[in-house]
Amino acid sequence: MNAISTENPSIIDPVKLDRLAETAIKVGLRLEPGQDLLLTAPSAALPLVRKIAEHAYKAGAGLVMPFFSDEEITLARYRFAPDASFDRAANWLYDGMAKAFSANTARLAIVGDNPMLLSEQDPAKVSRANKSNSMAYQPALEKIAGFDINWNIIAWPGAAWAQQVFPNDTPDNAVRKLADAIFAASRVDRDDPVAAWASHNAELHTKTAWLNGQRFSALHFSGPGTDLTVGLADGHEWHGGASTAKNGITCNPNIPTEEVFTTPHAHRVEGRVSSTKPLSYNGTLIDDISVRFEAGRIVEAKASRGEDVLKKVLETDEGASRLGEVALVPHSSPISKSGLLFFNTLFDENAACHIALGQCYAKCFLDGAKLTPDQIAAQGGNKSLIHIDWMIGSDKVDIDGVKPDGTRVPVFRKGEWA
Ligand code: ZN
Ligand code: ZN
Repeated sequence: MNAISTENPSIIDPVKLDRLAETAIKVGLRLEPGQDLLLTAPSAALPLVRKIAEHAYKAGAGLVMPFFSDEEITLARYRFAPDASFDRAANWLYDGMAKAFSANTARLAIVGDNPMLLSEQDPAKVSRANKSNSMAYQPALEKIAGFDINWNIIAWPGAAWAQQVFPNDTPDNAVRKLADAIFAASRVDRDDPVAAWASHNAELHTKTAWLNGQRFSALHFSGPGTDLTVGLADGHEWHGGASTAKNGITCNPNIPTEEVFTTPHAHRVEGRVSSTKPLSYNGTLIDDISVRFEAGRIVEAKASRGEDVLKKVLETDEGASRLGEVALVPHSSPISKSGLLFFNTLFDENAACHIALGQCYAKCFLDGAKLTPDQIAAQGGNKSLIHIDWMIGSDKVDIDGVKPDGTRVPVFRKGEWA
């Protein structure tokens, strides 16, 4: 049940909301004149979507096309739909999206739904619906994961989400606080967010340039419950901040972002790792994850909460129990310093070092744009229907870079760049 249904957008600072919309278009997407824009958003985010459309058309957008989801409509399916509904998905919609991306349409996603929306629903139905949706989404996801076009994700302070992050506040105060946290993390609390993003991008590029120069063959993580060697894919490349899509547009796919990340080798991950923050996955909270890898594959998985869902996720396909991303984030990142658990990957992944199960990013290879899927797989890139980030970093975790000859270089000490 979702008891908190009041949405009162008037309590959200209109100036910062407008800056967020402008930042999404000018920094997140760098939308080019004549480009169409495909937008997905929670229905409650309509005030932000309208601002985005304004800025998109001012930037010369050809056509802005929004698609809305709605928490109550999603729940109605679980309450009233026939059983067979849970093996269905909107293939026709995702095929259309894939077609739009092939025609150079930019993609903007707004997140903000209740992270616990489906926590009371039948886990079998949730997993069937997730799987059907992932399969149907594949043609569109390939173009996003393959970075064919400029894309961007930003957040809207949904009422139920806000209540989850600030459980002791009144609904209005919770929304106000979450809005402020989103604005600060997205750097739109500054007078000139576009300039703030330019200098942030430059800082992240210093880190990726150093890591790319080191040519590590593996990273070794050690900390409480963690002794993990993550082999890196052959010809891997580190990315962070703004990067250039195959259509030639340099965009910032995530707002906020604090991470630098690359592709692990799908068959060269060994050892044990424990999560350092709960993972909110499609309405379920998975907590205290502990897994063991052998030859890149998870062979043992435990969680104090949501273990059933975790195990179902790992069974999605062959690549679901292997890694597709490893990312470094200092413990002193602004999002980590806020001390908040957002129950949302876009934010929580920028508070700590993390790994992701599933699909790798093709762009995280030298000359990635020219590699075929077979070449990517041969170099160690993982393939899966899923991509799920979870946090393994904290102020107690050290990371060494391991060179091909076995030499070790300190990369992180107590959660900070060494
Ligand atoms: Zn990441
Ligand atoms: Zn990720």
